[in-house]
Amino acid sequence: MTSPERLRGAAAPKSHNARTIAALTTNPGCSRRAVMDAAGIDKERLAAYVGFPARFGQSQFAITRGNVFEAQLKADGCAELLRLLREVLGLPIPQVSYDDLESVDQLDARADRSRELLTRAAGGESGTLFDHPLLRLEVGGRWVYLEPDLIALQFGGTFYVVEIKSFAVIDGQADGTKVSAAATQAAVYVLALRRLLAEAGHDPGLVSHEVVLVCPENFSNRPVATLVDVRKKLSVLERQLARMARIDPILESLSPDLTFDLRPDSSGVPQRPVAELVDGLGQIDARYSPECLANCELAFFCRHEARGTTASLGKSVREELGGVPSVDLALSLASGAVAPADDQEEAAAMLRFAAQLRSECLS
Ligand code: SF4
Repeated sequence: MTSPERLRGAAAPKSHNARTIAALTTNPGCSRRAVMDAAGIDKERLAAYVGFPARFGQSQFAITRGNVFEAQLKADGCAELLRLLREVLGLPIPQVSYDDLESVDQLDARADRSRELLTRAAGGESGTLFDHPLLRLEVGGRWVYLEPDLIALQFGGTFYVVEIKSFAVIDGQADGTKVSAAATQAAVYVLALRRLLAEAGHDPGLVSHEVVLVCPENFSNRPVATLVDVRKKLSVLERQLARMARIDPILESLSPDLTFDLRPDSSGVPQRPVAELVDGLGQIDARYSPECLANCELAFFCRHEARGTTASLGKSVREELGGVPSVDLALSLASGAVAPADDQEEAAAMLRFAAQLRSECLS
């Protein structure tokens, strides 16, 4: 059986952050991603090497806008943010305490200091606002640091995770995909905070399953706060993290000498034949869907590989056309050129009906 170390080769394992951990939940059925992430393989480098570089990430403009918005909220000891939290959580007026954990330089020292302050607060001692606490979470057998742009707020014995985002809420509505991604990231912090408290002997239920999402309102920099329930996100996340620790059955199905090592030669350039790496990727089952384009560095490779399959058209098509694997077969069933097998009858009837509607519309 191959091992995560052999798959990764000489490279150092790629670290996760809240965004990459959150992305794990968007396609929990994909074995390829599970193996790559558990082995800590640099998917971005691998995708570029096989000719399908990733093309996603925040624009510099969005990053700058986000930083300005966060700085505005946190100015003067989080005065603006505190006003919002008082509204959304019914926080009473009395004085709150504020700890700026970003001021601790060393990562380990900052994580230790965060842990000390948060567990002390869980025990009923002082502590209200914790700016940039550093949390740790075990992912695929390795500890990763999470540097949230958030504040954990302790009020009335309950911790709330606060996530600040720069996308706008317009007339009370925000882009659903962006809200969902922000909620998933916040769920990562909720999970890390719950595990931190549990390890220190406190009730993990002290961390609320509701997170506070703070965004600018109506094209201005005026902030608005909303409570978002992340229970569903949490259960998907926990399932996926547990699955990462159990990739042995997948590894057993792979050839023992499989590796994605991109060790460079003396001139600094990897010499692995691309075809060998593509073959290796082909050994691990993938489950491409259009959502991969926004969440996984291998998306363009997997999309190319899945071209012509009905599953590549998205989850709803995958479900509606179960048993009809290719677009060619779907078209043949729709036109009646091919007779459906027993398990394709239902999908074939739907396809014929759709084809009939289409021809009526066109004529
Ligand atoms: S892009 Fe490929 S590897 Fe990544 S989640 Fe999608 S199918 Fe899996």
